[in-house]
Amino acid sequence: MSENCDQMCSSCSEDCAERKEERTDFTEKLHEMSSVKKAIAVVSGKGGVGKSLVTSMLAVTMNRMGYKVAVLDADITGPSIPKVFGIKEKAKGIDSGILPVKTETGIDVMSINLLLEDDTDPVVWRSPLISGAVKQFWSDVIWEDIDYMFIDMPPGTGDVPLTVFQSLAIDGIIVVTSPQELVSMIVSKAVKMAELMNIPIIGLVENMSYFRCPDNGKDYQIFGDSHIEEIAKEHNLKVLAKIPIDPKISSACDDGKIEHLEGNWLEPIGKMLEKME
Ligand code: ADP
Repeated sequence: MSENCDQMCSSCSEDCAERKEERTDFTEKLHEMSSVKKAIAVVSGKGGVGKSLVTSMLAVTMNRMGYKVAVLDADITGPSIPKVFGIKEKAKGIDSGILPVKTETGIDVMSINLLLEDDTDPVVWRSPLISGAVKQFWSDVIWEDIDYMFIDMPPGTGDVPLTVFQSLAIDGIIVVTSPQELVSMIVSKAVKMAELMNIPIIGLVENMSYFRCPDNGKDYQIFGDSHIEEIAKEHNLKVLAKIPIDPKISSACDDGKIEHLEGNWLEPIGKMLEKME
């Protein structure tokens, strides 16, 4: 038995003599017409730190690098992906499955808001139903020839994100933090969850990291000194990118023009993902 044993045999990958429960095959199958080479989950400790921004900017970055990209919006109760891409159309179903909606530059997207008649309707569902919807986005949507899929996860480490991690074949996790948060705790929780699920953490992205003054070009740390580097080192993780607070970013999101936003903050992550085994 491992010294870190938490008695959760069904999600443990170790072959040990004390196993009480069989390991489950957690992997929900993709649709027979789908092909997804790499699926990357984007997580955060709470809402509002920029998880959807990072998910959509990663998709835009990989798309600009010439890859076929998809975004699965698993944030069922707070879906913001269609809005940042300015998608007005609804998803369509065919006999064999559901077709994702294409953004202006050809990114395939699925989100609960593309299925609801009125996208201001709140989703007041209990967790099994929410997790069920995410699983269906994975298995019933036809994701054709996708090189990189980015999954905008529900915030936190609750029931829904846990079920999603247990059900989908995710290749890696990117953790988004912001300097106002209790970053150390959030990163520790993410690391523990990732270990439990046996999914590697690719690294951390700090959003709203600094403000670059347009008058003097100097960077100001609005929320005080960032401790992200020390925390990353403690957990043997990489800080992949730091994104500034920039009104251009919020207006691109609000106007549905994320694909027109200039800024190469996430390009190093793109280069890294290209080399991912
Ligand atoms: P989350 O997905 O974590 O809930 P969002 O990505 O939806 O967060 O971001 C929350 C809000 O903050 C959005 O309105 C977005 O436009 C804004 N925002 C996020 N990051 C930045 C940034 N770096 N600069 C300016 N506004 C930002």
